[in-house]
Amino acid sequence: MSQEKSRLIIKSGNIFDSVRGILKENQTIVIHENKILWCGEDDSFEKESNDEIIDVKGKTIIPGMIDCHVHLENTAEPDYERKYLRTTKVMWHYYALQNAQKHLINGFTCIRDCGSFPDWAPSLRRILDNGVFAGPRLIIANLPISQWGNQEAIGPIEVIEYYGRFSEVKTGINGIKHAVRDRRRSGADFIKTITTGGVLHGITSKVDTSLFLDDELLAMTEEAHRFGMHVACHAHGREGIYKAVKTNVDTIEHGTLIDEETIDLMKEKQTFLIPTQTAGFGINKPDILKQLPPEVKIKIEQIILKMKSNHKLAFEKGVLLAVGTDAGTPGNPHGTTISEIINMIENVGMTTTQALQAATIQAAKAIKMEKKIGSIEIEKCADLVVCNGNPIEQISILKDPNNLLYVIKDGMIMAEKGKITYFN
Ligand SMILES: [Zn+2]
Repeated sequence: MSQEKSRLIIKSGNIFDSVRGILKENQTIVIHENKILWCGEDDSFEKESNDEIIDVKGKTIIPGMIDCHVHLENTAEPDYERKYLRTTKVMWHYYALQNAQKHLINGFTCIRDCGSFPDWAPSLRRILDNGVFAGPRLIIANLPISQWGNQEAIGPIEVIEYYGRFSEVKTGINGIKHAVRDRRRSGADFIKTITTGGVLHGITSKVDTSLFLDDELLAMTEEAHRFGMHVACHAHGREGIYKAVKTNVDTIEHGTLIDEETIDLMKEKQTFLIPTQTAGFGINKPDILKQLPPEVKIKIEQIILKMKSNHKLAFEKGVLLAVGTDAGTPGNPHGTTISEIINMIENVGMTTTQALQAATIQAAKAIKMEKKIGSIEIEKCADLVVCNGNPIEQISILKDPNNLLYVIKDGMIMAEKGKITYFN
């Protein structure tokens, strides 16, 4: 006879209902294997003799949080491209695991990696899914699909080499379609594309220049959606954002120079905006900037002033927003996503409840995972965080992992008070 795994009961806590945006007091959650079997008023559940019960009276239970934009193998050091060239590829696979665990111990049970290498990402995802190591759920893009002529050209050799390896440049409908199928073949969950230059890309890569043609982008989204993959698009400048939204990408990453017309189109098309303000603030520090190529400073100045008011306007006009950090970029370490939740409150104008929704149910919707994660509901994956106090009244509670009493993923207690406690 096979041995039934005992149920895990999280008893008498106050649940943050991320769907309705309310706190429900004295609730109990019954977890069986990886799923929430039952959830409701305290003590009205039917107890079984071998239940493992954890009483969390007075504590708050929030859904496991989601960061929609990270780069796991990057370690937030300004010279990470050079470091990449000095170390072996295999070492970076271990950094990726360590960084994934930093998100986990801080209450993030799902992260979406927006650009990584197929030689480690699908394997790490599988290792974490199988519970070999403690770690969050991992959603991966593998190599981004970039536009020929705007991603890397003239710049410090390390930058060119890094981005040359990091993304694949494509032209033409057939090239794009092949690239999408190639991502699917290499085990990507979604497609990451790039319709404007990036702050950290080479000298000639401008944040307000966009080179992909509409028919190339349409071919990409059609092909991806046909396979059930969504498309995330890096875009700073107005033209690149507008084009991407018009051709049906699912999420806009950064969106720093968005205008009103594009905001209206995003609202109409229900395209999500992932602001990643922490990435801009991370780079825009004197000690970080002095270690980066000089053109980065010019580009960061171009976006940083307008970013806050543009994102705020997008939110006020009804664009859907979700939390993502771009963690791994210079000055933007893994495991600090709470800062972006605070950015949503302080710079975008969300209430604390809305900001927590942007990191749970709204983030789940943005990455097309809302049937599985993002809220504490029967039949969903048992991804949740038990914390001290009430983060809706005081969001800073979540900044200190000592306040995170249990981080549970797939029904397994993975971390307690900032330490991994799950070992297979
Ligand atoms: Zn990114």
